[in-house]
Amino acid sequence: MTERLKYDAGFAKEIYALENGHYIKKCMQCGMCDVSCATRREMDFSPRELFLLMRAGKREEFFKANTIWMCSTCLMCKVRCPRGVPLVDVMHDLKSHAIGLGYADSPQATFYQAFWQEVMGRGKVFEGGLMARYYLKRGWSEIRKGFEMRDLGMDMVKHSRISLKPPRTIKGIKGMQAVVEKARAQMRKEVGG
Ligand code: SF4
Ligand code: SF4
Repeated sequence: MTERLKYDAGFAKEIYALENGHYIKKCMQCGMCDVSCATRREMDFSPRELFLLMRAGKREEFFKANTIWMCSTCLMCKVRCPRGVPLVDVMHDLKSHAIGLGYADSPQATFYQAFWQEVMGRGKVFEGGLMARYYLKRGWSEIRKGFEMRDLGMDMVKHSRISLKPPRTIKGIKGMQAVVEKARAQMRKEVGG
């Protein structure tokens, strides 16, 4: 017998309170985002299904799904959604919220955090630094996988696609960090976080 989903408004309220979370209320489950999504096949649940999980109060399944981390922010769903749900912005909010709650132990989540640390540290991304941060956090099993890709990495260096030399930190990095911190503080104030 098919399990009947019980609605749980509590979890939905938590998500609606995120900066762009209220837009999810407009979702009419049409599926346009599913069929438009380039990375749908890699996701545990489509964006539309994720919203259903939220409405059903399936908190653990929601945060443990890889959906938000597999979103490549291509914008296709955002431009096609007939209800104007800005899915990319919602996905960003969900990533940030998931990290804040400690649901960030997937490889994709680690990659996002490593990317962010690079940007905030230098003002730009150094691939070597990004990978070092990623592999050090993921541990030996991932380091081994990374080592298996060494030929690809060397080819990319050879063809100047990546550099072994870290780039200079941008001018005004302190100013950039201050702007980002101010924006985050403002956002926390607005959403009561
Ligand atoms: S395209 Fe918009 S309305 Fe349709 S399922 Fe996706 S989010 Fe909901
Ligand atoms: S923005 Fe993300 S969820 Fe939307 S279509 Fe692109 S990859 Fe899929």
